[in-house]
Amino acid sequence: MTPAAYVHLDLDAVRHNLAQVKRYAPNNKVMAVIKANAYGHGITRVAKALEQADGLAVARVDEGVRLRKAGFSQPITVLQGFVCVDELLLMLQHQLDAVVHTPQQISLLQQQSAADAGLSIWLKMDTGMNRLGFKGADFNAAYQQLLDCPLLKQPINLITHFANADDLLDDKTRRQIDRFNEVVSGYPGQRSIANSAGILGWPGIVSDWARPGLMLYGCSPFAGKTGADFGLRPVMSLHSRLIAVKNVAAGETVGYSGTWQCPTDTRLGVISIGYGDGYHRHTRAGAPVLVNGRRVPLIGRVSMDMITVDLNSQPAAQPGDPVTLWGDGLPVEEIARHADTIPYTLLCGITQRVQIVEH
Ligand code: PLP
Repeated sequence: MTPAAYVHLDLDAVRHNLAQVKRYAPNNKVMAVIKANAYGHGITRVAKALEQADGLAVARVDEGVRLRKAGFSQPITVLQGFVCVDELLLMLQHQLDAVVHTPQQISLLQQQSAADAGLSIWLKMDTGMNRLGFKGADFNAAYQQLLDCPLLKQPINLITHFANADDLLDDKTRRQIDRFNEVVSGYPGQRSIANSAGILGWPGIVSDWARPGLMLYGCSPFAGKTGADFGLRPVMSLHSRLIAVKNVAAGETVGYSGTWQCPTDTRLGVISIGYGDGYHRHTRAGAPVLVNGRRVPLIGRVSMDMITVDLNSQPAAQPGDPVTLWGDGLPVEEIARHADTIPYTLLCGITQRVQIVEH
């Protein structure tokens, strides 16, 4: 019996996408970004599939500790670093590499006596994102302070993050690259700049470590493109099944608030998937859904457990017939567009009740 709603994960696609990263950024080591439960795919299963990656990156200390406890021994960078002494000690204990981005973190580092096992850090430069990191002269001052910190392994590594690299017409990215290079060119540490959009869209970035997230999961960060345009393979596909089929007369409304009025007599299909599974509530009528492998349009509002589709093009469809919501011929990037969101949110949003089937 197939589960009511399930995600199929193609872990070979993860390996393939990692190989693509290496093709796009041939002179870089790869720090695979697997925060947020590997963008909803399952952090430990994806980490296993990424054994050829040179390192892993997560957002928070607890994610890094989880990976160490699961036995992963490659370098793990915690992109938010630590915020208190307890987290710093956990990072030391589990040999997690910290991103350092505030004066408070530097004070915490200076207050620790040198431990046997030192800490590797990435000092973060804010080149225009205005989120984490030190700017301009503050970056140089932070660097100098950290040079004298006995707790740290030297050299100090250097990192920045793009704000808008998915917009190839915005020269802010070029300015961010130039600002970073200008300052770090005299420093001995390793450099890391590019996320997926940087790797795919801004060739020639000089750095030592690429930091792909989205592209490992087979998706494009660029509007109007899909992962396939870059030789990537989708890892996740979301499936369900029809649970009811009925006729609704022209003029009748469908679903909550009656937002959809049938323009003609409609063969209506009800599918067992909803926002309670992670199918975005704001997906608009007209979004494609694959029933028996063929596209039909979503109609009416997305409910917690169900959606409705127009089956006029498939009058023979029956309860039990297979449905694909994304993946397998229906790019998640396209569904994201119909939901006024980005593929990241859809991938991260799959809920616990959705069964996972891996291959
Ligand atoms: N680097 C940092 C600091 C990030 O926060 C992220 C994700 O948001 C990434 C790299 C990976 O980005 P992407 O998934 O767009 O490749």
